Amino acid sequence: MSQAKSDLVVVYHRQPYEEHVLEDGTVELRENRSPNGIVPTLKGVMGKMGNGAWVAWKHADDPANPDFERVIEIDDSYGKYKVSRLPLTPAQVKSFYHVTSKEAFWPILHGFKERYNYDPVDWPTFREVNWAFAEAAANVVSDDGVVWIHDYNLWLVPGYLRQLKPGVKICFFHHTPFPSADMFNVLPWREEIVRSLLACDSVGFHIPRYAQNFTSVAHSLTSARTISDRRTEDSLTPRGAALSERFTPVLMDYKGRKVHVETNPVGVNYDYLEELSEGQEVAEKVQAIRDWMGDGQLVLSVSRTDYTKGNIEQLEAFERLLIRRPELKGKVRLMLVSVGANRGMTAYEEVQVKIEELTGRINGTHGTFEWQPVSLISTAIPLAELVSYYRAADVCSITPLADGLNLVAAEYCVAKGHEKDGALILSEFAGCAVLLNGAIPVNPFSHASMDRALDQALAMGADEKRARMKELRASAKRWNITRWREATTGLFDTLSDESAEAGVEETIT
Ligand code: UDP
Repeated sequence: MSQAKSDLVVVYHRQPYEEHVLEDGTVELRENRSPNGIVPTLKGVMGKMGNGAWVAWKHADDPANPDFERVIEIDDSYGKYKVSRLPLTPAQVKSFYHVTSKEAFWPILHGFKERYNYDPVDWPTFREVNWAFAEAAANVVSDDGVVWIHDYNLWLVPGYLRQLKPGVKICFFHHTPFPSADMFNVLPWREEIVRSLLACDSVGFHIPRYAQNFTSVAHSLTSARTISDRRTEDSLTPRGAALSERFTPVLMDYKGRKVHVETNPVGVNYDYLEELSEGQEVAEKVQAIRDWMGDGQLVLSVSRTDYTKGNIEQLEAFERLLIRRPELKGKVRLMLVSVGANRGMTAYEEVQVKIEELTGRINGTHGTFEWQPVSLISTAIPLAELVSYYRAADVCSITPLADGLNLVAAEYCVAKGHEKDGALILSEFAGCAVLLNGAIPVNPFSHASMDRALDQALAMGADEKRARMKELRASAKRWNITRWREATTGLFDTLSDESAEAGVEETIT
């Protein structure tokens, strides 16, 4: 396949689809087994941009094998784009992704110093893999195109790419929280990472707090300085909220170069979700769930199995509820969807085991033949089906200990449509807590707060639910994916204008 250069190259470690080889040897593309919010979001942008390319890795036992299919073309409901696959051996993937990214970076990004594991990290392999991603992007991008890199496992790509292709515009977006200098600087490779990020034209985050943290890390380790900031929009600074931030950094100067600091929260695909939830099949499923629940209340929680997501704390709160208020037995159920995404990793397996143990204990201690208090579901439910549970649930409880954003919380509200309502319990430590107005805020580190939130949600009257849900839906609509996409394309245009101006200045001088 020809390798025409692309004006926009997305670099994200996962491919948009998984490949499955069928019995007759043909290859079928399927949605990724472990759901996350990033892949569908990026597909939506790629399909709309035209002439786009996506760089990701693909397992290859022998990366030099000439039969390895480097480039495939995708033509899906989002549009057409190319995927350029980087062959990585299972050992490289284990080292760069499962060890360095998940055991060292992930706990630090989410504020879990005690889970940080430095010993098994093989830094030369991390560099080598990031270099390979940078080379792959450099090979497909046009000379003045944009390379848009996603997430912490590719932190060194911007620095390498700047060496390989000085003229391209480099944007980096973090889908996770970004911690303060006290936490980030635990990483021994901190300076190398931050200097790489400062090679970008733009470094992006979901919310002002993460952007502020990034600038404070940059100040702590380099000569970079913040040259402008702006007041955060009032709606993004709920008074006294844990993630409120009054000012948002906008521009940094690093060695005479401008580095934009972007705050742009990813949103949900509002129109699509609304349409999906109002379908006939969903209505029938919702009715079936409600019939089955009788006058009982359904509390729903949906996430990946991860210690950051607070699923253990969620179950413990539910257990305390049944002990504290035995009159609720038979009248309330928790449906906990906790999808195992990182198989084979001890930290996640331990969480899964704990979740299963707790579920077994709660059901064994409090359940009866007719009533099982907790339904634990560990395999992903397709979104088209998930929306029925969103619509049917009386309460959605999203209680991560730390979370970059959390799309599920917003999806719950959108799926409710105009005629359904419900209560949303939302951790103060999820990025979307500063975007979604109308939720019951909860501190997942406090038993009292978790208990109060459940009591409040279960007791909430129809009028209050309706009023809060209206507000929640309005904020989910405001921060939807179209806004994110437009802000992103706006950023690319600004960068192009700036480089055109710089070109003019160079010609004049
Ligand atoms: N999801 C899904 N089925 C499931 C569980 C989750 O489709 O069984 C989707 C969910 O709808 C959401 C995404 O996975 O769009 C999770 O995104 P979120 O931002 O909440 O969390 P992340 O996993 O990206 O940290």
